[in-house]
Amino acid sequence: MIVVGDVKSRSFTNSMTNLAKSTYDAGWFELKRQLEYKCKNAGCQFEIVNESYTTQTCSCCLEISDSSPKGRAGLRIRGWTCAECGTWHDRDINAAKNILAVGLDRLAVGIPSV
Ligand SMILES: [Zn+2]
Repeated sequence: MIVVGDVKSRSFTNSMTNLAKSTYDAGWFELKRQLEYKCKNAGCQFEIVNESYTTQTCSCCLEISDSSPKGRAGLRIRGWTCAECGTWHDRDINAAKNILAVGLDRLAVGIPSV
């Protein structure tokens, strides 16, 4: 199973030019297209999930603590310690764990047959 967040270029590329945004969006679109195609061929589950709050939420205690990275100022924070449970997180690994958890929850509920 591969789970990816639904990255919105608008949310963190405000300083980019329109050309840079188009290039970024094209790259992301191609990555999703390749993953979908490869997963289908390999009999692998591929899910795109809402990644809202996956950076801010502690993957251990599931709280959004005061110490988690937030907003534009939080983009520079690469690692942080949860004020609720004391766990130290690498920003990207914590977000990846939360995105996977959202995907697994969806799988547990069942895949709609469309
Ligand atoms: Zn915590």
